Amino acid sequence: MVRAIYPGSFDPATFGHLDIIRRASALFDEVVVGVLNNSVKSPLFSVEERVNILENITADIPNVKITSFGGLSVNFARSCGAKVIIRGLRAITDFEYELQMAQTNRVLATDVDTMFLTTSLQYAYLSSTTVKEAAYFGADISKFVPEYVVRCVEKKYAGRVKQEGENSTF
Ligand code: ADP
Repeated sequence: MVRAIYPGSFDPATFGHLDIIRRASALFDEVVVGVLNNSVKSPLFSVEERVNILENITADIPNVKITSFGGLSVNFARSCGAKVIIRGLRAITDFEYELQMAQTNRVLATDVDTMFLTTSLQYAYLSSTTVKEAAYFGADISKFVPEYVVRCVEKKYAGRVKQEGENSTF
């Protein structure tokens, strides 16, 4: 059985993430999506909410599991019995950071390899950050995230009052 992990923040998961998960699930016997419990970043969704969102939108993919983790991805990979870390590449701007991380992880753990899946063209521009900003300013985000995620994001922003002078960069 060849198992891979797909670690990330997923705050929240987008069609871009879902596309990578589906494609990875066709390549590996099992894909464990690891939601990073990152105490430095302050995410919009709690780690439990991000896990719930991913469970919901991947419910139809039988060989995908969702779990949270903290610390190093290579340690998470080992604890899952996985030899592969999946990452997505959108553009050249992702490449430098991803390459550095993959090389560092390779030094830390020679038994774990990183595999990159390049984004499907229709999702190349998508990021959780831009989805959140668009939603915050009232845009329809249904082209960016599954319907369940649209509802979760709308609920989060429902009670928020915008400050004077707060403007979108879009
Ligand atoms: P980070 O771990 O940097 O916070 P994310 O949680 O947003 O990043 O994403 C996890 C992984 O998914 C990263 O490898 C990222 O490059 C990839 N990814 C994010 N959005 C897309 C997309 N639209 N298409 C393909 N890959 C993506």
